[in-house]
Amino acid sequence: MPKRTLGVFKPSRNHLYALFLCLAGLSLFVGFNHGEFIHYTSPTWVWVYALTGAAVLLTVLVFQLPPQGNGLSLDSSVYLACVFVFGAPFTLSVLLFTSIINFFIERKTVWWKHLSNFALYTMMITAASATFKLLGGVEGPLLSQRLSAYAGSMAVYFVLNTLLIGFYYYMVFQEELFATLKGMVKDTLLAYLSTLVLSLVLTIMLVHNQIVGLALFLFLSVLLSYAFKQMFIMYRELEARANRDQRTGLFNHSYFEVVLEEEMRKSRASGSELSMAMIDIDDFKKYNDHFGHLKGDSLIVFLAELFKKATTDTEIIVSRYGGEEFTLLMPGYDSLTAKQFIEDLRKNLNNSLFEGSEIFPQGCLSFSAGIAAYQPDIHDKSELVDHADQALYYAKKQGKNMVHLYGNQSPLEQDIDFSQDVRDIEQQLNLFMYKDMETFKHSKRVFRYAMDISELLELDTLSKRQFTLGALIHDIGKLEIPWSILNKKDKLEPEEWEMVKWHVTWGKKMALTNEKFKDLAPYIELHHERYDGKGYPYGFKGEEIPRLCRMLTIIDSFDAMTTQRPYQSTKSVKEAIIELRECAGTQFDPGLTELFIQYIESRELLKNDAGVSNVH
Ligand code: GH3
Ligand code: MG
Ligand code: MG
Repeated sequence: MPKRTLGVFKPSRNHLYALFLCLAGLSLFVGFNHGEFIHYTSPTWVWVYALTGAAVLLTVLVFQLPPQGNGLSLDSSVYLACVFVFGAPFTLSVLLFTSIINFFIERKTVWWKHLSNFALYTMMITAASATFKLLGGVEGPLLSQRLSAYAGSMAVYFVLNTLLIGFYYYMVFQEELFATLKGMVKDTLLAYLSTLVLSLVLTIMLVHNQIVGLALFLFLSVLLSYAFKQMFIMYRELEARANRDQRTGLFNHSYFEVVLEEEMRKSRASGSELSMAMIDIDDFKKYNDHFGHLKGDSLIVFLAELFKKATTDTEIIVSRYGGEEFTLLMPGYDSLTAKQFIEDLRKNLNNSLFEGSEIFPQGCLSFSAGIAAYQPDIHDKSELVDHADQALYYAKKQGKNMVHLYGNQSPLEQDIDFSQDVRDIEQQLNLFMYKDMETFKHSKRVFRYAMDISELLELDTLSKRQFTLGALIHDIGKLEIPWSILNKKDKLEPEEWEMVKWHVTWGKKMALTNEKFKDLAPYIELHHERYDGKGYPYGFKGEEIPRLCRMLTIIDSFDAMTTQRPYQSTKSVKEAIIELRECAGTQFDPGLTELFIQYIESRELLKNDAGVSNVH
């Protein structure tokens, strides 16, 4: 009989139904059997032993059926044959002993489930027997002229079984009753029919060949159970292969759609949280173009492994949604917990080492992600995916390497096309590629520091945009400085120094020509001001210099100290930190200097843990 693997259920309704089954079943048992086995003779006992053994064996050989994995065993054929040959009271004796033995074999199953199972069988056996007699059936050898009695009895047995179990699932899982029943019948019909036909075969064999007949029947049934079992194993293997992406071993797009539907249904029914993340690798095309598709593929596999590792022991379902896009379906996660989880994953990826990751504009592996949380008013799964997709698009627009929660953007933020701005500035910076490679690389490094710091300072989107773009563009005025001065190996002459200093003013003028970059002018113009007022071009002091410009000065100087430049020797990170501290309060804002040092030190610690040198 079908006995689906049970998930989480609501105990009260479940227990109540079991109690009803037990009471009804036990009353029937007492009414029909009333301990008649006390009066059995030895030959009858032999039959009881033999048939109990057969029923126990077939119960143990339970097999599962595709697609749901509904369990079925052929033991019902023994009970039905008993009904046809010996009648209901005898069959109930066999059932009683079989159930007792099963109780000891399957001790892991709770007692009330054993009892309700026993009650269920009692009901089916008595109903089948009553129908058999009602339709003119006679216990004993199979009578071909009474086939309708056998058929009717088997039909009642099957219908009652389906109804009683279907009702149980309807109550436990709150599924639609008709749909549940339909699903059960569809999945089990073929195997169930085998049981019914087998019961007729056993009826004939029992009467004509007795114990030998029973043995032959058992042999056939065991083989059949085994064949069904193998079929299910093969089905599961094929199913697993069809649901997986070959390259990464993650679930594939179509499987994602199936579980998304299923999880949304569960959330709708139980009110539990459900979130999903849509993840897209940043600038993957660049990596592919640089290293080729094969290397690109291995980066995808690397990411998939990272996701797998991060989600072991969670209920999160990771799928490869498309080329370099992934989805994480997160049952039980509300939007904020989901966002935090993906943020951690993103940081983890930023800190991961992978060959060639330095070519990425962010200087490390990164992804952008959109998070969407399920709401009861979302009826179609494509709506949830669309929300996550929109949030992902937004994260990309804000400059990538970011996790965004759907519905969290203000109208002001929606206007900011961050990544386009980055691309525009990068295009201008490309001019440095032939004129001054060092300034080109320096600008990109300072931009990456600024990205990290803006997160550390938890800047709002607008400030973040200004600060990071300001960092990227801050040296743009150097384009005006002659090649010979920019690349001079020896010490600069005083008039040459004066010219270098002009870059802040030239840069500001360049920025002011473009409406989009006007607000970046202070970063360009003021990044050489000093906290003590001895900087240029104005000699502003302390708070007169905007806070984020003061921070940019620190970043700019730290990068200058730690990288090779024509007019300065390189310092180690440790030496640069000492220098920063020495200049805190004079050249630099002391509070911001400490904050920056803390950031550098924690980053170094991370790198040392990962066993790499201190190059950004
Ligand atoms: P963005 O940060 O905006 O996402 O930039 P992107 O370069 O990642 O751009 P986009 O997501 O639009 O493009 C993805 C590229 O990934 C396109 C394609 O060349 C590449 N790609 C997609 N699937 C695979 C794959 O299975 N293997 C490899 N090697 N490359 C793939
Ligand atoms: Mg993509
Ligand atoms: Mg991409």
